[in-house]
Amino acid sequence: MDIQPGTQALIIGLGAAGLSTVRYLTAMGVRVKVSDQRKIDQIEPATIDLLRSAGIALETGGHSLDQLTGMDVVIPGPGVPLDVPVLQAARKQGLPVLGELALAAGRFSSPVIAITGSNGKTTVTGLLGHLLQAAGKHPFVGGNIGTPLLDYFAAPEAYDVVVLELSSFQLDLAGAFRPDTALLLNISPDHLDRHGSLAAYRSTKMRIFANQIQGDTAILGADDPVVAHACICSGVNRYMFGRDPVCAARIVDDNILLRLEQNGNSRQEEYRLSRTNLFSSVNQLNAAAALLAAAVHGCRYEDLARGLATFIPPPHRMAEVAVIDDVRFINDSKATNIGALAAALNSCPAPVVLIAGGRDKASDFTLLKETVARRVKRLILIGEAADAMEAALGSAVGTERAKTMEDAVRRAKAVAGSGDIVLLAPGCASFDMFSGYAERGTVYEQHVLRLSRECGVNVCG
Ligand code: ADP
Repeated sequence: MDIQPGTQALIIGLGAAGLSTVRYLTAMGVRVKVSDQRKIDQIEPATIDLLRSAGIALETGGHSLDQLTGMDVVIPGPGVPLDVPVLQAARKQGLPVLGELALAAGRFSSPVIAITGSNGKTTVTGLLGHLLQAAGKHPFVGGNIGTPLLDYFAAPEAYDVVVLELSSFQLDLAGAFRPDTALLLNISPDHLDRHGSLAAYRSTKMRIFANQIQGDTAILGADDPVVAHACICSGVNRYMFGRDPVCAARIVDDNILLRLEQNGNSRQEEYRLSRTNLFSSVNQLNAAAALLAAAVHGCRYEDLARGLATFIPPPHRMAEVAVIDDVRFINDSKATNIGALAAALNSCPAPVVLIAGGRDKASDFTLLKETVARRVKRLILIGEAADAMEAALGSAVGTERAKTMEDAVRRAKAVAGSGDIVLLAPGCASFDMFSGYAERGTVYEQHVLRLSRECGVNVCG
């Protein structure tokens, strides 16, 4: 649909993306109304003042259907379930329901690199932005992390390349969005409570390629057979990363071998990861994906090697917190689905005491049974999913329940032996006990550090 000055738009949800949409559309002269399910006292006063001063009507405490009267388009934020009554009614009335990507489609003035996958998006997005900067470029980095993607349009002249992390929720309503380069890292079951089935979730992820045309680039994770065989439009350049010999960015031991044929030019380079912060097996994959995308966009060897060496991965992802009595405590609070949990377990070189659980996202925990049986010596369960996890995994490993994170850390320490790893990798969302994965990881780290001080006192005393 053609959005023009005077178009009337209803924005559903006033999160960071919703606010960014308000700014974007009002700058275009669109007449905007906003509806949020929170009560007025749950919304930041500064946000309410901002809307008031711009004369934008705000409905709070739910989305009434009469808000649709006179509207030309409805724009839900990425977190809004697609089956809420107001969206169902909008569709019934034939109103277009668009997401941020659909609004942005065709309006970028620099090449767009889009990244999706079940796990590794944030790491790859951050690393790619860092590599492009190391090569002297000025990337806009945002989307599902940090800056909402429509904020790009406030100052497009400041950037010469756009790097977007995209969630399945954003891809659900992507419209005609077409990235010049699309990365699909991996697909493992996640958010099935929203998508309904693994097949539906997969096809949403595949939408990243849907509008690509001849000359665009698709970068695919070779270790995941569904991803490796993704259907790409004809004429799109297809590159793979992973451990398979066919890969353009191939991991061999601690190195990445880059072999790229592009526009008649050929390059062969070797990058060492052993002296970088990207040594874990999952981060090797992430590094290969980001390196390949940066090389496709013209970055040179010296800049890429320097960028890899200076990158610091984001927190709460396989971060070592402390070593207490020869037990390593690792924080992977960002492992919010079973794919990330399995990857975390597989990258641990020693027996694991695993702290897992939280809010279930309709995951099939039995898929973890084999990995848990192989890697975990004790499973300590927290949160709402404890029953479901125990039912699925209790026959593979001994389990116990912890009421709080402190309780979980202390139980883990009690059963861990010298050389073991205590790993927080919940495999679930955090909202039953925490405000998000970051708070969950921070609380874990605080209790580990407290324990470490106590043990230090014991040893010295
Ligand atoms: P996302 O943004 O997709 O959630 P992150 O980079 O934030 O990805 O990492 C999320 C979780 O996934 C972390 O627990 C991390 O250890 C794990 N992870 C990171 N990269 C990968 C990968 N390539 N494959 C599997 N798991 C990964």
